[in-house]
Amino acid sequence: QLPVVVIAGRPNVGKSTLFNRLSGRRSAIVSDTPGVTRDRKDAEAMLRGRRVRLIDTAGLEEAPPDSLYGRMRASSELAVAQADLVLFCIDARAGITPADAHFANWLRRQGRPVMLVANKAEGRAGTAAALEAYSLGLGAPIAVSAEHGEGLADLMGEIADRL
Ligand code: GDP
Ligand code: MG
Repeated sequence: QLPVVVIAGRPNVGKSTLFNRLSGRRSAIVSDTPGVTRDRKDAEAMLRGRRVRLIDTAGLEEAPPDSLYGRMRASSELAVAQADLVLFCIDARAGITPADAHFANWLRRQGRPVMLVANKAEGRAGTAAALEAYSLGLGAPIAVSAEHGEGLADLMGEIADRL
C-alpha cells in the first residue's frame, strides 16, 4: 500500500498544475475557469526515490454560492480521510482568502498531517502571502511555482521526509 498524498485547496490555486508536475503527467485538467477539475485524479509518483499515490481533488464545480464551503468539504472529505499527507495549496498571488481560512480550519480538525504549499510564488510574489500564510496555523508555507517549475525539488524532498 503506497502512502497517499492528497492535493487540496480551494479552486484555481493550481492544484491540478501541481499534480501534473509532481506526477510527471499532463492528465489532470488545468483551466483558467475555477474548479474545472471534474473528478479526483490518481497517479503514482516518485518523489525523491519514494513512490506515492498522488490524488488531485476536485474543486467546487457547480456549487451554488450559498453552499460553497459545504461542497468544498464534501468533495475533499473522502480523499483527506485516507491521506497520509495533505498538501494544502494556497495562491501566493491572491493571498489568503476567507475560503482558504475556512478550509484550513476544517483541515486542522481532521487530524491528518498537512503541509502548506504557497503556489504561484514565482519571482517575488510569494513573500507577502507566505508571511500571511502562517496565520492559517498549518506551519511554515513552502513556496513553489507549479507552472514555472520552481521550488518543486524542495517540495518533493519535504514530502518524502514527512512520509
Ligand atoms: P485548480 O483549480 O486548483 O486545480 O487550479 P489549476 O491547476 O486548474 O490552475 C488554475 C490556474 O492557475 C490556471 O490558469 C493555471 O495555469 C494557473 N497556475 C497554476 N500554477 C501556477 C503558478 O505556479 N503560477 C501562476 N502564475 N499561475 C499558475
Ligand atoms: Mg483542478
